Amino acid sequence: MRVVVVGSGISGLSTALELINAGYHVAVVSADPIEVTTSFLAAAVWFPTAAAPVDRVNAWAATTFDYLEGLAVAGSPGVRMCESLALYRSDPPLPAWSQSVRGFRIARSDELPPGYGHGYRFSVPLVEMPVFLPWLRDRIVALGARWIRRTVQKLGDVADLRPDVVVNCAGLRAGELVGDSTLFPIRGQIVRVTNPGLALSVRDEAHPIGRAYVHPRANDCVLGGSLDVGNQDVTPDPELTQSIVERCCDLVPQLADSSVIETLVGLRPGRKEVRLELDTETTVGIPVVHNYGHGGSGVTIGYGCAREVVTAVGVL
Ligand SMILES: Cc1cc2nc3c(=O)[nH]c(=O)nc-3n(C[C@H](O)[C@H](O)[C@H](O)COP(=O)(O)OP(=O)(O)OC[C@H]3O[C@@H](n4cnc5c(N)ncnc54)[C@H](O)[C@@H]3O)c2cc1C
Repeated sequence: MRVVVVGSGISGLSTALELINAGYHVAVVSADPIEVTTSFLAAAVWFPTAAAPVDRVNAWAATTFDYLEGLAVAGSPGVRMCESLALYRSDPPLPAWSQSVRGFRIARSDELPPGYGHGYRFSVPLVEMPVFLPWLRDRIVALGARWIRRTVQKLGDVADLRPDVVVNCAGLRAGELVGDSTLFPIRGQIVRVTNPGLALSVRDEAHPIGRAYVHPRANDCVLGGSLDVGNQDVTPDPELTQSIVERCCDLVPQLADSSVIETLVGLRPGRKEVRLELDTETTVGIPVVHNYGHGGSGVTIGYGCAREVVTAVGVL
């Protein structure tokens, strides 16, 4: 069977690779180079955020955790397990994700920065997307997939590739291709700064001036962030940059000496629920598997969703 995957973000690439591994002939059709996808700029730490429904997201996230952990252990480029600290100013409930992460424990008081009374330590996959996405693409191409740069207006525009099935992984624009108006942007701004030697990932989801996270990478540190539902302005906001740096310095005071490298803005593909389903009643006359609307969790659930796409295609 020939499968055309529309989109080359984390959803499209994960799906394409799993379909190839399952024996399908795959073509990836994408409007943009991978470097300008939302996926490429993601902080890309495993952490379920702004995606539903909870049961399905948890299942996809668990599958993806194991997969990414396996890649990290195997030394795959751009993927590693990252020691992490979640901070709280008041006594927190047990987080829903506590069962899914590795090495979950209550942080000791000497592990907390000033102003924080509580914290949890754990380990999760952290993915450096500028390394991982090209690696995924190169594997897909090396395994024989066709790689086509093309903007489609509707899924029928790939009919010339003679697909037996099309997988819609077009992120925020996936809805336009199939008449689904329920997708919305969730603007995210992050700041790349020089890494003063950090290895611990730190977050405070309820910082008084906005959510805050510090994710150290090999050659920089990603500071975040914002989660503005409905905002589609991709121009960096300098005041927000300043605010992000300030709140992240509360979490990790060593950042005070870091320099800003750049500010990045991306639009997460928001939807009330992730759409992952087989649709055989399409107007284009070709079965479609929808795989979009991953919100702030595309990296966290991408592989699990890809596995489910393979199952859906297998039904045909
Ligand atoms: C600042 C920020 C931080 C984030 N941090 C995390 C995190 O820590 N962990 C996490 O799990 N998630 C995170 N996310 C969310 C994550 O980035 C998204 O959920 C994910 O990137 C969505 O991937 P996607 O492949 O569905 O879409 P995209 O990456 O947007 O890819 C869409 C693809 O579809 C193609 N396409 C679109 N329209 C067309 C068309 N008409 N014709 C052809 N091709 C088309 C595009 O060219 C592109 O290749 C973050 C997002 C942001 C913005």
